[in-house]
Amino acid sequence: MITVKNLQKSFGKNQVLRGIDAEIKQGEVVVVIGPSGSGKSTFLRCLNRLEDVTGGEILFEGQPITDKKHNIDKTREKMGMVFQQFNLFPHKTVLDNITLAPTKLLGLSKSDADKRAETLLQSVGLADKKNAYPAQLSGGQKQRIAIVRALAMQPHVMLFDEPTSALDPEMVGEVLDVMKKLAEDGMTMVIVTHEMGFAREVGDRIVFMDGGVIVEEGTPEEVFGAPKNARTQDFLSKVL
Ligand code: ADP
Ligand code: MG
Repeated sequence: MITVKNLQKSFGKNQVLRGIDAEIKQGEVVVVIGPSGSGKSTFLRCLNRLEDVTGGEILFEGQPITDKKHNIDKTREKMGMVFQQFNLFPHKTVLDNITLAPTKLLGLSKSDADKRAETLLQSVGLADKKNAYPAQLSGGQKQRIAIVRALAMQPHVMLFDEPTSALDPEMVGEVLDVMKKLAEDGMTMVIVTHEMGFAREVGDRIVFMDGGVIVEEGTPEEVFGAPKNARTQDFLSKVL
């Protein structure tokens, strides 16, 4: 689904991504781990071109989306993204937050978009919140709404950048449960997280980044159970 070839990204003189090669297959759950500043967010943001790349190439469903001529807006509709901060529109209801993009970008009627939103809200246990405003919700509820909002576009892949890092500890589980269910339903996902238990349980593949490169990758058993690289070993010894 996504092929990344020798991806490079610099901010001024700061080379943040130093040649990343990666392959994300349909239905695969790839979990990206690594120390702060290693380039995980930048990598994710390059995947849907929230950042322009400095070098290399990204193919999405066979199309070179790093090509200047590529219509990235259409591609972004197929790539859902969820951030640490929920970025819900504060003056819109939950329902309107969810239906905005499907009506505007996909041309769904408001009633069709409402139906789709209500089904999704039900699936995350928040059907009763459709008329609430973001300020009336807990962090965990807001993040589940943010996930639903992305899903309402029926994306082909979901990108998550530390979706539980801003949550109080007691709300982490409810968000991870939604993500786990998505994974079980076959969604293709790329997830940056520090939740190692979740990574181990839900990830098909673990990618360890450090210093703007992929240092090591493999199954959860390989990376967590028997890390080969000294940097991976060092990182895991601090977080596990
Ligand atoms: P991680 O998500 O692994 O913590 P990031 O991708 O956020 O790492 O950051 C990697 C490096 O890129 C850091 O040194 C950070 O300061 C730099 N960086 C990220 N975004 C920007 C930006 N918009 N402008 C300048 N530097 C940035
Ligand atoms: Mg980050």
